[in-house]
Amino acid sequence: MKKKLKDLYCQRPHVVIVGAGASRAVMGKSCPTMNEAIEQVGLDRILEGFMLETKSKNLEDIYSELFRRGDECKNARIAMEKKLYEYFSNVQLPSFLTIYDLLILSLTEKDCIVSFNWDSLLIQAYNRVAKITWNRPKILFLHGNVGAGVCKDCMTFGLIQNYCRKCGKPYNAVPLLYPVEQKDYNSDSFIRDQWSVAKYYISKAGKVTIFGYSALSSDKEASEILKAAFSKHDGVHRLDAVEIIERPGFNANEISETWQYFFSLTNYHSDIVDSFYNSYLAQAPRRTLQYQYQQFIRGWWGQPKIHFSKQDTFESVETLLKPLLVNEEQGDYSII
Ligand SMILES: [Zn+2]
Repeated sequence: MKKKLKDLYCQRPHVVIVGAGASRAVMGKSCPTMNEAIEQVGLDRILEGFMLETKSKNLEDIYSELFRRGDECKNARIAMEKKLYEYFSNVQLPSFLTIYDLLILSLTEKDCIVSFNWDSLLIQAYNRVAKITWNRPKILFLHGNVGAGVCKDCMTFGLIQNYCRKCGKPYNAVPLLYPVEQKDYNSDSFIRDQWSVAKYYISKAGKVTIFGYSALSSDKEASEILKAAFSKHDGVHRLDAVEIIERPGFNANEISETWQYFFSLTNYHSDIVDSFYNSYLAQAPRRTLQYQYQQFIRGWWGQPKIHFSKQDTFESVETLLKPLLVNEEQGDYSII
């Protein structure tokens, strides 16, 4: 009986929700925030000669205005979309080990990463850690992604540089969901599909980590869907936990109402850490639910011996994870 409870608990997905703050932590300034994008991506040149009503320099505010004003701003809006797409297509991971590589390696195939980012950094990390393991999490992109391609005829998705596995034609770019106040998550089949899988994972999650995603009130639509998904099964998350990874100096009072709601559903089993390295993901890689089970249900005060640190390299991490990977081959997911 005990064994069964443990299995049920530990086999549930760990869902990591990733926002712009995560790419920022990995890449520094080359992943601009909404406040920096206009200047950094060179969008200000497109806007020259326009009398904008908003005084804001924020991409979302400006894009929303262009969208609202319709035909008179259509060309500028399309030029802006093209420029953003190009910019994010060129954002590449450095050759050394990054937090995104560790994030992929910290999870297994039952888990899921849900990203709101346009850059393809997670896909790049996913592909390059294949030399360490094929047992990797699913990745979903809720605002589209420059690394993703789609074949609308066959409804297949894959890497943008690949060909449709059904008809053999090259994939087309997935449209990015640009920042308007009222987002429509049903307008595009790729994005709709990604959301429906994300909702499934979030409803079943035994642990949710939010990495650099504030879920501000400006994306009301997203907040409502996330909340509805997490509360789908009554009472199920009472022994689960929510963890937030935020920038150093983050004020806990800034936590959005969306995440407060997540906290309440888990009986306030909630944590805020200021670095990926202090998160469960780094402290108990590939065994996060097992670690949570030991702590919450068994009252264990120990710590896994295998954990990530800032000094890790591709070589050291491969050696470090080896014992876990060998056990996984036998279906053994115990903590080491
Ligand atoms: Zn096709």
